[in-house]
Amino acid sequence: MDWLRTFMRERYGIDRLSIFLIILSIALNSIGNLLKMPILGLIGYIPLGISIYRILSKNTTRRKIENYKFVMFMDSFTAWFKKTTDNIIMRIKDAKTHKYFSCPTCKAQLRVPKGKGTIVITCPKCRTEFKRKT
Ligand SMILES: [Zn+2]
Repeated sequence: MDWLRTFMRERYGIDRLSIFLIILSIALNSIGNLLKMPILGLIGYIPLGISIYRILSKNTTRRKIENYKFVMFMDSFTAWFKKTTDNIIMRIKDAKTHKYFSCPTCKAQLRVPKGKGTIVITCPKCRTEFKRKT
């Protein structure tokens, strides 16, 4: 394995972005096979090629920046996804007891108890008052 160590010495190696690209490639190939769409399999070689290029690249600074941007993007995407799904789950759990309205002025989401008739809702963010039937 010495030849491999020598070969890889000045090269960038593997990181999260490369692993993601390899998984994307495998996924595209599998979906292409399942749907009998060989074009997807061919497209799947693009992320694989990029991944191999990055692993063998000697421009480590550039590869680190790419990986950093990717990690930052994935972290914010994961946070957004979790927030959105938590919100949906809460609304499903709340459906019998609460209603949701968006403020006509600032679009803030307001949660009010159900079955109180027509009430005046005051937005806690912008103080706009509006009537809604609960
Ligand atoms: Zn408001």
